[in-house]
Amino acid sequence: MADWQALNAAATIPHCIVQLEPSGVLANFRRAAGEETGGHQGMVFADSDLYKVIEAVAWEIARTGTRRFDLWLDEVIALIGRAQEPSGYLHTWTQLRQPEKKWAEMEWTHELYVLGHLIQAAVALDRAAGRSDLLEIAQRFADLVWDEFGPDGRDGICGHPEIETALVELHRHTGDDRYLILAGRMIDLRGHGLLPVGLLGAKYFQDHTPVRESDSAAGHAVRQLYLNAGATDVYLETGDASLLTAMDAQWDSVHDRKMYLSGAFGAHHKDEGFGEDYELPSDRAYAETCATIADLHWAWRMLLAGGSAGPAAYASVMEREVHNALAASIDATGTRFFYANPLQQRPDKVSEDAAPRERAPWYPCACCPPNIARAVAQFGAYVASSTADTLWLHQLAGAEIDLPAHLGTGVLRVATGYPLTAGIELVVDGAPAPGAILAVRIPEWSAGSLLVAPDGEHAVDADGYARAPLVAGGRYRLDLDLTPRLIRAHHRVDALRGTLALQRGPVVYCVEQADLPAGPAVDDLILLPDEGIGSNADGTLTLTCTVASEEPLYTANGEAVHTSASPVTAVPFATWGNRAPGAMRVWLPAHWWETRQIADGQLFAEIARPNKPKEAQ
Ligand SMILES: [Zn+2]
Repeated sequence: MADWQALNAAATIPHCIVQLEPSGVLANFRRAAGEETGGHQGMVFADSDLYKVIEAVAWEIARTGTRRFDLWLDEVIALIGRAQEPSGYLHTWTQLRQPEKKWAEMEWTHELYVLGHLIQAAVALDRAAGRSDLLEIAQRFADLVWDEFGPDGRDGICGHPEIETALVELHRHTGDDRYLILAGRMIDLRGHGLLPVGLLGAKYFQDHTPVRESDSAAGHAVRQLYLNAGATDVYLETGDASLLTAMDAQWDSVHDRKMYLSGAFGAHHKDEGFGEDYELPSDRAYAETCATIADLHWAWRMLLAGGSAGPAAYASVMEREVHNALAASIDATGTRFFYANPLQQRPDKVSEDAAPRERAPWYPCACCPPNIARAVAQFGAYVASSTADTLWLHQLAGAEIDLPAHLGTGVLRVATGYPLTAGIELVVDGAPAPGAILAVRIPEWSAGSLLVAPDGEHAVDADGYARAPLVAGGRYRLDLDLTPRLIRAHHRVDALRGTLALQRGPVVYCVEQADLPAGPAVDDLILLPDEGIGSNADGTLTLTCTVASEEPLYTANGEAVHTSASPVTAVPFATWGNRAPGAMRVWLPAHWWETRQIADGQLFAEIARPNKPKEAQ
């Protein structure tokens, strides 16, 4: 994960900065400032591309203290300031296209969405670099929104949620209660038909049901998940239990019935939206990168809020997302990106706008690339947390974690090659407070692993964490079971019936055409799971498959004919498409389906059967 953050700093963030010029994002600000002629370029929310890149830079400053972006920050923040109107209003599309119609078409103009990203960037920069110039710009705009839509203003919400969580963060950062009140109003007002219905219906922007009564994820996936993050944030500051109750139900809907195995969301291209329960097609998965990032935001807030699923469930989902859907969205150079992240690529796939055959360096709708940059730069914030007497380690990643003052002084150092390797070593360098406890998450697929601590071995508790006293100089070790596992989907997922997927630790695997010898097509492979799964030192797996022979589209009776068994290499889904474009699939048809039964009850169940690991190859 540290390597990924270094790549983000060295390649992804600079790449995003460069793209802001040819995409017209910076020109829009210059034009709004009256410094250049011309109309608005790009999407209605293009301003947010710049704000997300600034936020990525801010988190990178927080991570490393780098000063290499200072000059760029000076330039773009000054430009943003010049584009802002004296009233505080700042939305270059409206300023350049229809300045007389501010707040008039909020179902699609994204004015508050864009402000949300401005606020998040500004708060991050003030926290990371002690730099308040962007914060002053953001607050001027937020204050204008308070006058317009606060308790003494009119009722109005943005078509795309995002402002809610940003306003709560602005409240936390400044101590100004108005921003929390405004965030609460945005939550309270949604679901009452304030937005024109339009072609995609009120569900598209979650305006069909009040937030507190909405127990099923619906509509545009990114919008639903940002909204949920905002509602959870409002709960965290107000203690309004009705919000947490609704979010618990939403959590179950999203993660028990509508999540892809990779930690992606959105089964429909048409509205970039959630499907019905268990509607999870692999090839037509929309699975937008931003939806996974939005869910990271929400999952972390549910963890802090003490939602009913429990902290291990939230941390586990985040781990699934980071190592799979999010990791797959970017290539090995850090400069090419997927927008949609399907779990199957057909060999004759035709590129679509948001779903090209290969990762692209940028998109006309460029919400995802800078969102990846800011998410990766702030991974560190998701690794650990603390309560009165406990330091919680949620993510098993190499890290140096400063002990919070109430738990003593010093650093907890975590060293690991996970998820490629199984061992995690922890050392306390400093003086923990007497009675301090270390709680380490043990993933559910390795529940038998023990936390080896100075005072002995500790098994996992019912909440998914193993606990040991946090002591000065203490050395701890955890060895996880990385035996590859076969995964099958709930029987209602028609698109996955008769198929199996492979996971090793949190990593989901796929088979790519690029790994097959000339001849067989990846879509003709039939997995023979009884032959065992070999786990190789480079992180690949070796499966045994047969190849189905050519046959008519429909056949009455008769067995399909397969060739003899052959070894096939599977690679982490996150790495697919790095060598050549071509067919890929996560879920493989399996040959033994009818004879195997396990208990239902969850979306993705692990097959209870012994693996037969082969020698590393
Ligand atoms: Zn996106």
